[in-house]
Amino acid sequence: MNKKIEKILYLPNPRGFCAGVERAINIVELSLEKYGPPIYVRHEIVHNPWVVNDLEEKGVIFVDELDDIPDGQRVIFSAHGVSSEVKKEASTKKMDFTDATCPLVLKVHFEAKRHFDNGFHIFLIGHKGHPEVDGTMGQIPKNSITLLENENDINSLDKDKYDKVALITQTTLSVDDTAKLIKLLKKKFPDIIEPPREDICYATTNRQMAVKSIANKCDAIYVIGGENSSNSIRLVEVAKKSGCRNNFLVSDINSVDWKEMEKFRSIGLTASASAPEILINEFLKIINKKFKVEIRKNTIANENITFKLPKELRE
Ligand code: SF4
Repeated sequence: MNKKIEKILYLPNPRGFCAGVERAINIVELSLEKYGPPIYVRHEIVHNPWVVNDLEEKGVIFVDELDDIPDGQRVIFSAHGVSSEVKKEASTKKMDFTDATCPLVLKVHFEAKRHFDNGFHIFLIGHKGHPEVDGTMGQIPKNSITLLENENDINSLDKDKYDKVALITQTTLSVDDTAKLIKLLKKKFPDIIEPPREDICYATTNRQMAVKSIANKCDAIYVIGGENSSNSIRLVEVAKKSGCRNNFLVSDINSVDWKEMEKFRSIGLTASASAPEILINEFLKIINKKFKVEIRKNTIANENITFKLPKELRE
């Protein structure tokens, strides 16, 4: 029998599901139990193909718009949040809905509405086209909020066009990149109102710090997460910027190039906030079969946050 190649595998913690994702998935599963299939969900409940496939097999139908749902059916709104228009549309259609928006995204919605009510123009740092950004921008009239994606967007703002300004951000951004953008924005608008507590959520921050803590020890880091998942993509970027030269986003364990892995002596493995631990276990099972692996765990924070379920599903 061939002698197995030796590997060191760094397993940072926290990783995987956050409280908002756990709550959203629970809402869908409890709705399936309470109301029976099919259950309609507007947009992917969280951005992870494994989660989406698993729920589809249990009787969930994911749709893009409310128009895709037959009359009389219930709908669940995804963890990323929805605009006020979508909620209004559901009410007009007399559709029962359950809102699985993460409470930390709702906090950003409340900030946007409060600033608008107080006469501020709002700058939102985030990624165009992401459902969370669409949902947040859709809380207030279009001309009262401006999306800023990068330094160019900030540099091209006409300072004199705005009177009172406030700042909010998407919850799943890179902590370091966002800090740079905020610094630039504050230089231009010294009186800008910032969020009372950072909008980037605890789960995003912790997972990025955990990856940073192993990045310069690893020849390669594998991030388990969906290709359309903001927090997964950010983890890959953070790993790269923190010193790891080879970084992979793994949306499907079957796509991992195990042959290529032979050349890496030390490997990091993590999962984004929307990726289940079952995929980490699957990865570990395969890597343990192929190589002689020494696992080194690295915990940088303990998380014990949970969010309440909606009343109708608690009963
Ligand atoms: S990543 Fe953060 S904001 Fe998004 S669902 Fe998880 S806890 Fe909520």
